[in-house]
This record gives sequence, C-alpha cells and structure tokens, in this order.
Amino acid sequence: MSELLVVAEHRRGALTPATLETVAALATVKREQDSLAVVILAEDPDAYAAGISVEGVDRIVKAKLPAPAKEFQIDLYEAALSELIRARTPAVVAAPHSIDAWSYMPAVAAAGKYGCATDVFGLRRETEDGEGLIATRAAYSEKLHMEVDFPGKRTVLLTVRTNAFPPAEGSSSPAVETFDMPQTQRRSRHRGYIEPPAAGDVDISKSQFILSIGRGIGREENVEKFNELADSIGFTLTCSRPIADNGWLPKSRQVGQSGKTVGNCQVYIAMGISGSVQHLMGMKHVPNVIAVNTDTEASIFSVARYGVVADIFDIADELASHFE
Ligand code: FAD
Repeated sequence: MSELLVVAEHRRGALTPATLETVAALATVKREQDSLAVVILAEDPDAYAAGISVEGVDRIVKAKLPAPAKEFQIDLYEAALSELIRARTPAVVAAPHSIDAWSYMPAVAAAGKYGCATDVFGLRRETEDGEGLIATRAAYSEKLHMEVDFPGKRTVLLTVRTNAFPPAEGSSSPAVETFDMPQTQRRSRHRGYIEPPAAGDVDISKSQFILSIGRGIGREENVEKFNELADSIGFTLTCSRPIADNGWLPKSRQVGQSGKTVGNCQVYIAMGISGSVQHLMGMKHVPNVIAVNTDTEASIFSVARYGVVADIFDIADELASHFE
C-alpha cells in the first residue's frame, strides 16, 4: 500500500478551499491499494478535521503545534513534514500552490532528496497498471506545458495550482491518528496580516460567462459600450492588463498572469485582445473562447474555438441589437 498525503492549509482560522482541490488532485491518481491521508498542522487540529472529512479521505493525521501557532509557521511546518515523511514514507505529498507551501515544500524536498514539482495542474499514472507518476506543469511563463516524471524517487512532493481541480466533496469517516511534533527551533514568527486591496465588485474567477476587452477598444469612453453589452447578454466584463493599468476598469477585473485566472468560465468573448502569453495564462483553458480581432495573425486565435476577423465595434452593435 502507498500513502498519498495532503498537507491541509488554513488561514485565519478557516480551511482554505485549495485544500479540498489538492485532495481532489491526489484522488485522480489514487489506486485501490492506496490510502489518502490529510495532515493538519495547527495549534488546534480538531478545528479543521470536520472540514476535510470529504470523499476520498481515508485518514486524518492531527499534528498539534506548540503555541503560539494560530497562523502559518514555516519552521514548524518544515520540521513536521520532514519527520512525517521519514516516519511514513508517503509516495506523494501535496499542498496547495500558495505562499505557505512555497516556503517549505521545496526546502523539505531538497533536504530529503525527494522528487518535487511545483504549480502542478495535471496528474496521471505513467503505466496502465498504475505505476509511476507524471505531473503536468508550465514552463517559460506558460509558453509550454511539460510533463515531469520522478525516476528513482520513493517520495514526490507537489504543490497544486489553485482552480485546476474541482474541490473534493461529499463526506467520509476517516480514521484519525495523532502525530507528535519534533522539538523545533523557531527562526521566524508571524507578525500580522496586511489586508489585500479590495477584491472589487465581482469575483471574476467564479464567473461562467465573460466578455473581456483589450486595447482594441481604443479609448476610455468606449468602456461603457462594452459594459452595457456585457450587462444585456448576462456576461461579466473583464479586461486585459492595459485597460486595468489605465484605470479604465478595476484591477480586480484583469485576466492573466498578474491578474486573475477565470477558473469556472465556460464562454470567454475576447474583444480587441491580441493574446499575449501573460493574458492567455488566465483564460486559455476555457472550453469556448470566441475571439474578435481585425488582425488575422493575432495569437488569441490560437486558443479560440470561434474566431471572428472583424471590427469589435461592429460586432458589439450587432450583438446588442439581438438583446434590445
Ligand atoms: P494589444 O496587445 O495592444 O492588442 C490589442 C489588439 O486589439 C490587437 O490584436 C489589435 O489587432 C486589436 N484591435 C485593435 N483595434 C481593433 C478593433 N477596432 N477591432 C478588433 N480588434 C482590434 N496582460 C494581461 O492581459 N494580463 C496580465 O495579467 C498580464 N500580466 C503581465 C505580467 C508581466 C510580467 C508582463 C511583462 C506583462 C503582462 N501583461 C499582462 C501584458 C501583456 O504582455 C500584453 O501587453 C497585454 O496583454 C496586451 O493587452 P491587449 O491584448 O489588450 O493589447
């Protein structure tokens, strides 16, 4: 039997949704003979146990951290995970790809000479009988996707990209174990949170239907035209970076590498957007991209299911006329 181990992530007293996505990610490669465990590293692990008793979870490992440890503690996580891996030899250890895991997962992997892949958004077994593990991640700022294998590694550490796997649901009655924390010297302490800028009026990562505008709209006065169009067809208005940088729409509406990924989107209409790699990073997974651009060579057409070579203002008028 091999163990697949998820490190639960919690912030400000609540389990992060990415924890359940990470459980779902490992469930895709769990074989019948495998066991999926979730370790809770916290001052009060009991507070999070119910939230991770979801389908696919066979075990919960509670590791009580010495106070004060209400918030993430890099040294304690690093020491606990190293010790857990030594004691249990899991085949795979995964955590959400977030600022927490960035700080300890590669360090644990390097110290233990384990396999490691970060920002993983695809997982599969190498052979039909379920041997080996292949992780998909991006390289060169999403210019290419690569598959990584881990020859000769008994344990592989992964960080899993947010919104790449639907969160695990349902309920289970996992066996509960406890883990005794090793003595650890703290070299850092949590000093507080800096609130992020206001999230904006909508969370575009959850929108299913999106109308996105780029520099092709030309002037700020034209934003309203597309705003009205988006309203009338029931789409959420988003944008490429120049539009947000100009302050024509809030930063919270920007799609792409330095903006947001449109996780749940089913239809994405890109108007006057060229399709830079940075923009594509946030939307190229959408199954139905409709691109409108006057330039037949625009890169956006490479990810579009439907491409319209036309002026966006003509298409906007035509579309609007059907919804008056
Ligand atoms: P342009 O590239 O100028 O494209 C405008 C398009 O509109 C052209 O294809 C043109 O043919 C078309 N067009 C013009 N007029 C019309 C018309 N009337 N009808 C139809 N088509 C028309 N960009 C992002 O979007 N999101 C990010 O998160 C992001 N992060 C970045 C991070 C870094 C570190 C860097 C370096 C860059 C980032 N960028 C990001 C910027 C990115 O490189 C591009 O500059 C940007 O995406 C271009 O935006 P655009 O497509 O709207 O503009």
